[in-house]
Amino acid sequence: MSKNQNKTGSYSFFNCIEKNFDKAARFISIEKGLLEQIKACNSVYRMHFPVKIGKEIKVIEAYRVQHSHHKLPCKGGIRYSMKVNQDEIMTLAALMTYKCAIVDVPFGGAKGGIKIDPQTISSENIEKITRRYTSELIKKNFIGPGIDVPAPDYGTGEREMSWIFDTFLSLRSGDVDALACVTGKPVSQGGVRGRKEATGLGVFYGIRELCHVKEDMYSVGLDVGLVGKKIIIQGLGNVGYHSASFFHESGAIIIALAEREGAIYNEKGLNVSKVFLHLKNNGSILNFPEAKNIENTEKALELECDILIPAALENVIHKNNANRIKAKIIGEAANGPITPEADEILDKKGVIIVPDIYLNAGGVTVSYFEWLKNLSHVRYGRMEKKFRENVNAEFLKVIETVCKKKISIEEKKMILRGPREIDLVRSGLEDTMINGFHKIRDLKKSLKIENMRTAAFVLSINKIIDSYEKLGIFP
Ligand code: GLU
Repeated sequence: MSKNQNKTGSYSFFNCIEKNFDKAARFISIEKGLLEQIKACNSVYRMHFPVKIGKEIKVIEAYRVQHSHHKLPCKGGIRYSMKVNQDEIMTLAALMTYKCAIVDVPFGGAKGGIKIDPQTISSENIEKITRRYTSELIKKNFIGPGIDVPAPDYGTGEREMSWIFDTFLSLRSGDVDALACVTGKPVSQGGVRGRKEATGLGVFYGIRELCHVKEDMYSVGLDVGLVGKKIIIQGLGNVGYHSASFFHESGAIIIALAEREGAIYNEKGLNVSKVFLHLKNNGSILNFPEAKNIENTEKALELECDILIPAALENVIHKNNANRIKAKIIGEAANGPITPEADEILDKKGVIIVPDIYLNAGGVTVSYFEWLKNLSHVRYGRMEKKFRENVNAEFLKVIETVCKKKISIEEKKMILRGPREIDLVRSGLEDTMINGFHKIRDLKKSLKIENMRTAAFVLSINKIIDSYEKLGIFP
């Protein structure tokens, strides 16, 4: 057993990412020490604080890790889960660094976590814990618009982000940029339209782009395009639910959905919004009338399908089940869902893996848009919407005169419309995901890199080196 392996013989989560990094380093000629610096976690803040829950005092364990300061602020979500530990948060912070670099979002990577199970704690107590955690971050200068900007992650959402903002504001009143201390806020509190569904939409754009590349589709024996592709999605949280909805709307067939309690399957396709309603009403996806139950949720990953989207937690595809995976494409909507051992097995089988550090970058991309909105103190589209509509109206007049044709009211509405915030956010995200995909693919081809993950790491590391060089830190 190597020194990096734990008792069970498998690698720690952080070592998994180091392994991926090292594979990419073979394609980069730069001094070893500099690569070591990029790999290392810069700051780890582990805290314990007391919170009174009912009549008892509970000691809460929490973390904030800043992986890289090559660009500031640091950025990354905060997760609430009983699985939170230092290794996990360090790894997720590192993934944030690589992710941001790939999609040209000018942040260093960070991640936070509180070891609680939000499903068993009242919202009053979650609020207490969130506010206390925020004040701990403020005390140590681990949060701020130019320092470190948290966001939602597994087990957190808009509600927690608004508590974080409110706590920050009350302790830093007068900071005109306070809104930019956290992203993923509700729109009514400085959030940006389109943030909630951004990660899921980014996953959709990334996979759609791959499905339009003839060469790649033929290499796994699939036709070009998304329509009719059979998809399995594991995890119906914010990311899984929104990606499932976008795939469903685009004509793909969602044949199975898996959650903690089990999975449901219908070869002809599931109606995602109906499943979600069923989940809301019953607290479980099981027993959905138009589907078969699969009690063992892990088995759902092994069903025959074209595309598998793990959208929950890390390490769900490992050396013991990788051989049984039948998907031709795996889209990593979650962070780190495939262990390095499984990666090798799947690579040998010729499966195309679209890596997390690219595919789930939609969330942080739109967080970046939110941060910019908060710092500029103006809603997207406010300045140009009316101007665009006026210009479009002039164009329309000219077209009608030159073509001697009346344009229908419906067509007019479409042409006249100036950009709203949601249009700008979504088009910015779409452009980012399309560009990112082709940059990775082109690099993979030109350097003859074995898979998309390694190519994505090469792209990312090169960009980080670039920014260190611009800072004059690296010779
Ligand atoms: N938690 C998300 C992620 O892992 C979003 C982070 C952010 O928006 O800062 O990418």
